Amino acid sequence: MDESSMSFSNFGLPKEINGAIKDLGYKAPTPIQAQTLPHSLNGEDIIGQAQTGTGKTAAFLISILTYELENPPEEDRPPGSPFALIIAPTRELVLQIQKDAEGLAKRTNINSLALVGGIDYEKQKIKLTKRVDIVIATPGRLLDFARSRSIDLSNIEILVIDEADRMLSMGFIPDVKSIIAKTPNKTCRQTQLFSATYTQDIRRLAAQWTLNPIKVDIAPENIAVKTVEQKAFHVAEQEKYQLLKNLIHQYDMLRVLIFVNRRDSARELERKITRDNFICGLLAGDVPQRKRIKTLEKFRSGEIKILVATDVAGRGIHIDNISHVINFNLPEDPEDYVHRIGRTGRAGSEGISISLVCETDAFSLPAIEEMLGEKLNFEQPPQF
Ligand code: AMP
Repeated sequence: MDESSMSFSNFGLPKEINGAIKDLGYKAPTPIQAQTLPHSLNGEDIIGQAQTGTGKTAAFLISILTYELENPPEEDRPPGSPFALIIAPTRELVLQIQKDAEGLAKRTNINSLALVGGIDYEKQKIKLTKRVDIVIATPGRLLDFARSRSIDLSNIEILVIDEADRMLSMGFIPDVKSIIAKTPNKTCRQTQLFSATYTQDIRRLAAQWTLNPIKVDIAPENIAVKTVEQKAFHVAEQEKYQLLKNLIHQYDMLRVLIFVNRRDSARELERKITRDNFICGLLAGDVPQRKRIKTLEKFRSGEIKILVATDVAGRGIHIDNISHVINFNLPEDPEDYVHRIGRTGRAGSEGISISLVCETDAFSLPAIEEMLGEKLNFEQPPQF
């Protein structure tokens, strides 16, 4: 069937899941859902080349929840021994996946637990002394629990590795390997691997971890370019802040995410913006976890309208209705550009990205344009 005419009813999902999908307001499956679900529901391994914003989280969560509803354990699951494991690179991403899992599992009694660093270890450990169905975790914290035998990974039936390319660039692969070695062999589990890019390294890892996988490719240009209007301005470095301020003042920016390449410049920019009487939050690696979560909540609720973030911290931001993404600097890695602008224009809504390009940024431009397959659209900075 043509994927554009697919409906969730084509998948024969349990009523609890169909109900939750309705509650969440999802009308039709996104392309990654339409292309992976027929296979993942069939127990096949999946390699999905898709970035955030495509609906990939719901794609794997729907298959996990459906599996559990259709194959309930005969007896109560032993404490601390989940049937599904989702590994993701950042805390924010883990917490977001758990939120989505709770939404989709609302009409079931399937529970999920997030295990992340920076949040109370003992509290998480106590939760592992009870029944837990789905664990969503960052590699480091999960490995701590696995090594101390607080978690038992030998009953894992479905393994999801999310944002594999990020895990690789953040140096998590050795941890991920140790974790996977503690799960059942790939012939006895289902493995779903997602990655925004599909490089030689990722290909090699995917070949190790999956068995006869179905490969689904949702190319970044399809999403990024389709729903995000990308603008760019040439501007001298010392005039960037003034231009930014003017843009914020002038345009109806409901929720603005500003990306900065370095932590220290992110902090400096946040200070400046705050000094100019805007309510602004900061999301950078050196901000304590609790504070980051609070800031994200405030941004989500609209209490904070402007958020300054670095790439690593900004990865996990899954907030709908971000009206504008501003690249205060262009990222050096073109993949980051696609990830950044993918924070707006999510799941079909329209978004605008604005890149402020100075002479230094111009060095990063060719690689970005090559990845996008088109030139950035430079405009005259607006007159104020
Ligand atoms: P993700 O790529 O998983 O980060 O998802 C991006 C956003 O799309 C999330 O806010 C989801 O709630 C939303 N979403 C997922 N699936 C659908 C769907 N079928 N229809 C509309 N929105 C969706």
